[in-house]
Amino acid sequence: MEKPKSSFLVMIIIIIISLTLITVIMAAEQPQQQPQRIKTKVVILGAGMSGISCARILEEAGMEDYVVVEADNRVGGRMQPYMFQGISIELGANWIEGTVGNPIWEFKERLSLEGSISNYSDLWVFDTVSKTRFRPNDNPRWIDLQNALDFAANLSRRKRESAEPDVSIKVGLQLGGWRAKDPVDFALEWSQTDFENAHSPDESSLEHELPGDTFEIFEDEMYMITDQRGYVTVVHDLATSIDSNKIILNSEVQRVNWNSSDSIEVTTTDGRIIEAERAVITFSIGVLQSDRIQFVPALPIWKQEAILMSEMVTYTKIFMKFPFAFWEESEFILYASERRGYYPFWHNLNHPKYFPGSNVIMVTATKTESMRIEAQPTDVTITELMAVLRDMYGVGIPQPLAVKIPIWHKNPWTLGSYASWPLGLTAGHKSNLKKAVDDRLFFAGDGISQLIGYVHGAYLSGIETADSVLQILGFNPTPRIENVFALSH
Ligand SMILES: Cc1cc2nc3c(=O)[nH]c(=O)nc-3n(C[C@H](O)[C@H](O)[C@H](O)COP(=O)(O)OP(=O)(O)OC[C@H]3O[C@@H](n4cnc5c(N)ncnc54)[C@H](O)[C@@H]3O)c2cc1C
Repeated sequence: MEKPKSSFLVMIIIIIISLTLITVIMAAEQPQQQPQRIKTKVVILGAGMSGISCARILEEAGMEDYVVVEADNRVGGRMQPYMFQGISIELGANWIEGTVGNPIWEFKERLSLEGSISNYSDLWVFDTVSKTRFRPNDNPRWIDLQNALDFAANLSRRKRESAEPDVSIKVGLQLGGWRAKDPVDFALEWSQTDFENAHSPDESSLEHELPGDTFEIFEDEMYMITDQRGYVTVVHDLATSIDSNKIILNSEVQRVNWNSSDSIEVTTTDGRIIEAERAVITFSIGVLQSDRIQFVPALPIWKQEAILMSEMVTYTKIFMKFPFAFWEESEFILYASERRGYYPFWHNLNHPKYFPGSNVIMVTATKTESMRIEAQPTDVTITELMAVLRDMYGVGIPQPLAVKIPIWHKNPWTLGSYASWPLGLTAGHKSNLKKAVDDRLFFAGDGISQLIGYVHGAYLSGIETADSVLQILGFNPTPRIENVFALSH
């Protein structure tokens, strides 16, 4: 019995040794994978709205020696259509914010992008204390809030004109006589501040977020895109004249080495080294604030400070599909919870304006609530959502057929949803954010733009940065956006 066992063991050992030897020999015979080297004049990092609008301007000016490098397998960045139960919804950007003179409106007209203006006053409020619902328009607290918002907006304009120091939106509202005291107050206030800025009134800059640079220039109508081609069609349209070989997808930038004065070396995780004279960096403020991109040498302190003083907020739209619609027919429903910002704002996508018959409702969460939701298992979130809906519509409502919870805060290529203007970020920081480093590292994107946090800001920032690069390279760009910026100062 002993003998066959030991010979079997010897055989196994011989097989293992032989296999190991074969593997070692094969590995030695494999040619060492060389990093792929690409030489170009300009490298654009990121193929979102700002990266593609920048590329388009270079192309139009005849500066064709550039490449765009993108980590994702698609262009568009935070403009992301998603097929949800038979309809294409937008996980990221959804509205053209401000329709008068907004350059994105021109795309909407030319591309016939379907959608409609959201009517935020078509709203029911559900009070969780009295378990009653009301229309806010005649509500005395709503009127108090509107008066305080008007006061704060005027104060904001005065501050801007006379260069008085900035304060928070909370201070502006308090000076206007508003103090949120109960769940209804919290919800009404949230709908007028956090819903747009994705951070609370005590964190927001009054001067830049109420009413905000965008709404001062383009007025306050918001056009929600429901087009089944997706909002990203605008980026695709910009990219039509760009040779697709110039856009390198699935290539994540790891390192930007600008040590040598001759060239910048961009290293990607898939083994590419791109050498360029200039780089245009369009990563989100969240990515720039993280340590995911190694700059060698580190960016100068003035640049780092401007980046770190900025803020990347998280804004999450959660989509729920039901067998039938059991909620109000209004466009919006506000849930006035004792906990401020707890699943507050429900958007009826079943409304005739949006996706009639879809039986889809969307709820928005922001900042810390978004981060909390991203950190917990999906079934916990669904249980919380259902408890809120049962509170409003009774225990007899059906379970959802599907739920989509997008991830933005933990997404390594966004690290948040959009840039916002926190209290403490000054015009000086903002100008340093935009300023090129050593006339070689240029920055563009929604966080760099004065029209911070929006598609149109990213678009204009891409154009403006392309013009600066062209100028340095000796081309003669036509400045296209002076008028918009003149209005914003
Ligand atoms: C949930 C949500 C709702 C929004 N709602 C609206 C709205 O209604 N209206 C509006 O105007 N705006 C809205 N926005 C903001 C708008 O989407 C952005 O301002 C705009 O799309 C930003 O474009 P960008 O080019 O500056 O950045 P991005 O779109 O982020 O482009 C940067 C690109 O860089 C890539 N990248 C990141 N890291 C790396 C790396 N290491 N290597 C290579 N590539 C990398 C990214 O994948 C991305 O494609 C919303 C955003 C979100 C997330």
